[in-house]
Amino acid sequence: MADQVFQPLPTVPDHASLEEEVLAWWDEAGIFDRLRERNRGGPAFSFFDGPVTANKTLGVHTAWGRTLKDVFQRYKGLRGFDQRYQNGFDCQGLWIEVGVEHELGFNSKQEIEEYGLDNFARKCRDAVVSYSRELTRGSKRLGMWMDWGNDYYTFSDTNIEYVWRMLKVVHERGWLAMGHRSTEWCPRCGTSLSQHELSQSGVYQERLDPSLFVRFPLIDRPGESLVIWTTTPWTLPANVAAAVKPDAEYGRRANGEWVGVALYPDEDFEERLPGSALVGWRYSGPFDTLPPGSAVEHRVIPWDEVTLDQGTGIVHIAPGCGGEDFELSNVHDLPVLTPVDESGRFYDDYGWLHGLSTVEAADQIVGNLGERGLLVQATTYAHSYPHCWRCDTPLIFRIADDWLISVDELRQPLLDANATIAWTPEYMGKRMDDWLRNMGDWNISRRRYYGLPLPFYPCACGTLNVIGSRAELEERALGGLEQLEELRRPWIDRVPVRCEACGESVERVLEVGDVWLDAGIVPFSTLGWQNPEWKPQGYATGAARGLTTADLPNHAYWEKWFPADWVTEMREQIRLWFYSQLFMSVVLTGRAPFRQVLGYEKMLDETGREMHGSWGNTISAEDAFARMGADVMRWQYCAQPPDRNLLFGFGPAHEIRREVLTLWNSVSFFVSYANIEGFRPAWSSLEPSGELQPLDRWLVERTHAFVRDAEAAYESWLTVDVMRAYEAYVDDLSNWYIRRSRARFWDGDTTALATLWYAFVQALRVMAPILPFLTDHLWRNLVPDGPESVHLAGWPDVAEPDRALLDEIAKVRRVVTLAHQARAASGLKLRQPLRRLVVEGVNGARAHAAEIAAEVRVKEVEFGPVDAELRVKPNLPLLGPRLGKELRAVQQALRGGEFEALDGGRFRAAGHELEPHEVLVERLGREGSAVASADGVIVALDTALDDELLLEGRVYDLIRLVNTMRKDAGLEMTDRIDLTVPEADGELVARHRDWLAREVLAVEIGVGAELAIAKTQA
Ligand SMILES: [Zn+2]
Ligand SMILES: [Zn+2]
Repeated sequence: MADQVFQPLPTVPDHASLEEEVLAWWDEAGIFDRLRERNRGGPAFSFFDGPVTANKTLGVHTAWGRTLKDVFQRYKGLRGFDQRYQNGFDCQGLWIEVGVEHELGFNSKQEIEEYGLDNFARKCRDAVVSYSRELTRGSKRLGMWMDWGNDYYTFSDTNIEYVWRMLKVVHERGWLAMGHRSTEWCPRCGTSLSQHELSQSGVYQERLDPSLFVRFPLIDRPGESLVIWTTTPWTLPANVAAAVKPDAEYGRRANGEWVGVALYPDEDFEERLPGSALVGWRYSGPFDTLPPGSAVEHRVIPWDEVTLDQGTGIVHIAPGCGGEDFELSNVHDLPVLTPVDESGRFYDDYGWLHGLSTVEAADQIVGNLGERGLLVQATTYAHSYPHCWRCDTPLIFRIADDWLISVDELRQPLLDANATIAWTPEYMGKRMDDWLRNMGDWNISRRRYYGLPLPFYPCACGTLNVIGSRAELEERALGGLEQLEELRRPWIDRVPVRCEACGESVERVLEVGDVWLDAGIVPFSTLGWQNPEWKPQGYATGAARGLTTADLPNHAYWEKWFPADWVTEMREQIRLWFYSQLFMSVVLTGRAPFRQVLGYEKMLDETGREMHGSWGNTISAEDAFARMGADVMRWQYCAQPPDRNLLFGFGPAHEIRREVLTLWNSVSFFVSYANIEGFRPAWSSLEPSGELQPLDRWLVERTHAFVRDAEAAYESWLTVDVMRAYEAYVDDLSNWYIRRSRARFWDGDTTALATLWYAFVQALRVMAPILPFLTDHLWRNLVPDGPESVHLAGWPDVAEPDRALLDEIAKVRRVVTLAHQARAASGLKLRQPLRRLVVEGVNGARAHAAEIAAEVRVKEVEFGPVDAELRVKPNLPLLGPRLGKELRAVQQALRGGEFEALDGGRFRAAGHELEPHEVLVERLGREGSAVASADGVIVALDTALDDELLLEGRVYDLIRLVNTMRKDAGLEMTDRIDLTVPEADGELVARHRDWLAREVLAVEIGVGAELAIAKTQA
């Protein structure tokens, strides 16, 4: 084979090494740069990359999103769109800080402060630098094409300045406020959290807490007491009131305890009163022994929200430790006791509790209540409780002063902007609407260190100075500029500014910003919104200096690329990145920052459990690259409907690797015969021409249909539909076209070769975005004179397919499939020829009787009614509810065969019309036939055998056996053989010599002691 055009393929692809090889070649040949060059000046497709937090190596979760981003950018690239390809990293906030704390062995804010905020800031930057390198490496290995090295890093001074500008606008519109309120607080991180942080998955976890019933003795009714229930003992020292439901009934037990009657329906009470009668009663607080409690006059207050399905119907109120409690304190003018500090430890004035954490205090509080005879009962209680999304510490409520953006005036504009966005799947857009309707004010402040410094400078004169840019800071600074390394703590804290109202020196508040401010500003900060002059490397400022070459473009550039045509992230981002972008964009421009969104659900392990490090079921991306291959991972991601959770794992990957082989083996088959024939395709005359047979014409049309279907799927952002179209197409190509054309390939039919080659070329282009490695590897083998890479080959431009023809063959394939089913049910082997197949319900397939006969291996195909017994059974789960009592009559009629078949698969029985899905239809063949049916098509296979059929069956067996021996002997496909058959097969050879010789390439057939082959000597 001197003239070998195509490289023979190994039996199975080695994905990992194939991918490494392709990656190296892309680099060397500059394929991505050439693609960008080719598309420069083309129509723009604007995509914003949601930043990955640079605090970890690439995981298989992140790789899912990265794959979808890459798939659609590659698809748009094939279609000639000019794109930005800018990757982003999130670089500030708790994720980064907690990682560094962990590395340094810190577990409190105090340790950070002792270490020094400047040292801590540098450590945080180091972490971002090293993880962003890791993420880049992993993403490249996944096949993601981005403009690496030109990334945006949200800790850049430029990014910070853009958030400052947004906050200044918020302040000017009067939406910035300082909130004094009760908020969810992480005692370990020492900061409050916002509502959207609490909406992240994993925040609510099942947890066992103490369950206490506690007696509050009534002062004016000696011997009597209120009984309350709590699961947070640490809040009892902050108790100031007890709430009752005014219109509920309360009862006094014989021992003097007052409880809600509805909760104890079986008890006898000595006295009953409405809740309103209890209002105003004074009681001794549970911890009046401590100074803060002793100063409070504890009273019963009315509260309509008291529930009577849990507890005692009397609620302990501690405004310093709960959200609703705090609101009640405003209504009833109650004192607010705040028992714990930022780290969740009791303040000094709480005596013997001082310094204890809320958890440590619980035991002591229970013990103390018991000693003083106030404890009615102490057990445990399992419930879903919020935990810190970053460090997993159970959250507490604390009173804090937080900076808030008031959302009242923004709510409607946000809803209007969301209405302009096309969401896939649609329900995610509704989730955004729900969130926008119900969200509270945005708590933007965090009491932390490595984050966006809030540019707020409150002055004693009452003015809140908000700095909107670095230039403004420099202009108003009263010192400290010389040491300002970055717009960051601690350096920024040493720059006081002049108050715009009174001229006094004012200092910055110490809070940093919510990390979603950093990511939400990206559509402005990276595109040069309102920037008059393009600044080369103008984004590479502050901590980002030296990490990226990103420019700060000018406003005209922003006009071109804003809003994004498309963004994609997981569903959780509705309340996070999608929200923060939308919010900031509506503040600055009144418009939505993106036109279309693809959201997707969660990733679980292949058994449907969450992946957890401690459960040992997480998969690292590195492991997946090595053991599955990036293409197989991408297939797994892309085959996933976005509205369902992805069950990711090695099991599904194994199945996919098997499925990859259908295409692989087809190409391998083609390469073998094309090389034998010396077939040379030409890129310049892509579509096969000349004497096309009907099957060739069908494959061309089928290919065009695949291109069109895949195109429609990509255009609706549904990779799952691309994968479905691909799987059906490859099945048709391999199990119909190639199977039906085998003999032509053996004969070196170049039209068949050209047709099959055309199909591969188009299919590789369609699948290139999803399987970028495998398709390019095959492309370079199959297309010697075309574009060097499939990614440079553009999207196939094909004619509208002949759907009528395709429909016809689809029916033929359905008949064949049913016939195979019938044969399998009858237990006859596929190789055994049969006499006759009767087909009912398919008219279009009549012209293909010969093909059906050959495929099904029958002598004759007849179109007409099938003689089969029809059995119809009721689909009880559906019909039961619909028919009620009538069901029995229908059931009896069906069982007795008293029914009438109507159009469209419907039936009438006992006076009721039954829809196709309401019945289960079975067809039973008469003696000597096997029947199968689906969707109105019925086939009956004649299963009777005679001597002639049995003899032919033996020929097929022999052909198979000999061909296996040829393979085992290592013969080439073109090698001829001399065949010896045992004497018992003498009659068989006498009657079918030519057939046998042709199928096994035998030159001589002799009779001998046993079956043997020998290569014919030329
Ligand atoms: Zn925390
Ligand atoms: Zn002032």
